[in-house]
Amino acid sequence: MIEARELRKEYGGFVAVEGSTFSVDSGEVFGVIGPNGAGKTTTLKMLAGLLDPTSGSAEVAGYDVAETRMRHHLGFLPEESPLYEEMTPISYLSFFADLYDVDGDVAERRIHDTLDDLQLEHRHRQLGDMSKGMKRKVAIARSLINDPEVLIYDEPASGLDPLTTNYIIEFTERLAEEGKTIIFSAHNLFHVESICDRVVIMNEGQIVARGDLDQLQREYGETTYHVYTT
Ligand code: ATP
Repeated sequence: MIEARELRKEYGGFVAVEGSTFSVDSGEVFGVIGPNGAGKTTTLKMLAGLLDPTSGSAEVAGYDVAETRMRHHLGFLPEESPLYEEMTPISYLSFFADLYDVDGDVAERRIHDTLDDLQLEHRHRQLGDMSKGMKRKVAIARSLINDPEVLIYDEPASGLDPLTTNYIIEFTERLAEEGKTIIFSAHNLFHVESICDRVVIMNEGQIVARGDLDQLQREYGETTYHVYTT
């Protein structure tokens, strides 16, 4: 469902990502783990077609990521979602439903069902008056507005309190159970190890380890594993 082949991104002379190759199967939850500056956001943005790779290629849902049609199959959640502060969740999501050509009745039902699933209250309050956790839920609802098969979430739980973090992780797990293919990034394996089928660990632009969690522990030993679980 997702194929990354030798993705490389350079900024001037600086190599932010290189040799990024992996595939994600349909229905899989795949983690991209690494510290600040590892190249996670750059990798995910290249997969979402938001950043052109310097070299290499990628496919999502059978489309080259450079094809605009690919976007109909994708929900992207950026690390910092710019929300229009004066809009309400309903008006904001309706605006995006229009952008994605989602039929009015379908959009209305989907918006209400998704906000129910996310247990979002105060749907008519302005986004500018909402907590960070509530805003993140609205951003997640936006990523689902076109009912995509593939979700790319960049640090979906970063900066949230432990309760909301757990909620977001559990919600992501439910989306996977419903059949979505999900790739997401995180600083470490803590919290995400329960839902990831496989991960790649990145550092300084390169994939330094990969596999399922048992495999990682066996191959890279307790010390390396420990660094990424705490
Ligand atoms: P974080 O967890 O802090 O979000 P990350 O793993 O997502 O980190 P990236 O944002 O992909 O890392 O950045 C990888 C490297 O590329 C960093 O050293 C960053 O400073 C650099 N970088 C990212 N965007 C640009 C840019 N537009 N111009 C120059 N360098 C950039």
